[in-house]
Amino acid sequence: MPLLHVHCKKCKKSISTELDVDLDTFKNLTYTERTLECPYCDELQVWNLDDVDRSVFNKG
Ligand SMILES: [Zn+2]
Repeated sequence: MPLLHVHCKKCKKSISTELDVDLDTFKNLTYTERTLECPYCDELQVWNLDDVDRSVFNKG
C-alpha cells in the first residue's frame, strides 16, 4: 500500500505521514486536521486529507 505524503508548507519537501493506506481506506479516513513535524525544517505541519499527494494512487 502506498505511504501517504504531504508537502511541507515551509520547505516544500515531501514528508511521509506514516499513514500507509490503499485508496479505499483513504476515502474512508476521517476528515480531520492532523499534525506532523517536518523532518527537514522542523516546521509543525497541520494537514488534512486535501493536502495529501494523491499521485501515489495512480501508480501500479
Ligand atoms: Zn519542511
